[in-house]
Amino acid sequence: MVAAKKSARKTSQDGQTGAKKVAAKKSTADEPSTPVSTARTAAPADPGDLAVRTGEDPWTAEEAEEARDALTAEADRLRAEITASEEALTGLMRDSGDGAGDDQADTGTKNVTREHEMALASNAREMLYQTERALQRLEAGTYGLCENCGQPIGKARMQVFPRATLCVDCKQKQERRF
Ligand SMILES: [Zn+2]
Repeated sequence: MVAAKKSARKTSQDGQTGAKKVAAKKSTADEPSTPVSTARTAAPADPGDLAVRTGEDPWTAEEAEEARDALTAEADRLRAEITASEEALTGLMRDSGDGAGDDQADTGTKNVTREHEMALASNAREMLYQTERALQRLEAGTYGLCENCGQPIGKARMQVFPRATLCVDCKQKQERRF
């Protein structure tokens, strides 16, 4: 009686383990780390297929690699900057908690510093977002296409501004609106 119960429980446990194993195998085969949009091609997009303007030479593998390296380094730098900013803010918040002895000038200075830190962190987060998007577009093969009009931004411009998402025309139109 006891043995039968044990064996029944064992069977059901085995059944669960088996189901988990199947699920794990399936997700490994699907390469979950690869974004859905690029899942069809195992390798990154061919640099020669990246958009250029009329008269520009196609991207070489080296140039695409340079852009990727620049963007990766930029993303690392921004992540470090955000972390430093967050740590500074944590310190400022903590200090403001026991600021009973501060005179008004002190408190004012701390508020300015805090606002400055918050602006820096927010700016860095925005740039990090753009940098990560640019890296994704590089992998997907849509790097160098204007997100507004869909025309090539131009290799020369991308090499100066690796994060660019707009062609010169659309960028100027956007700036005029502000
Ligand atoms: Zn455009």
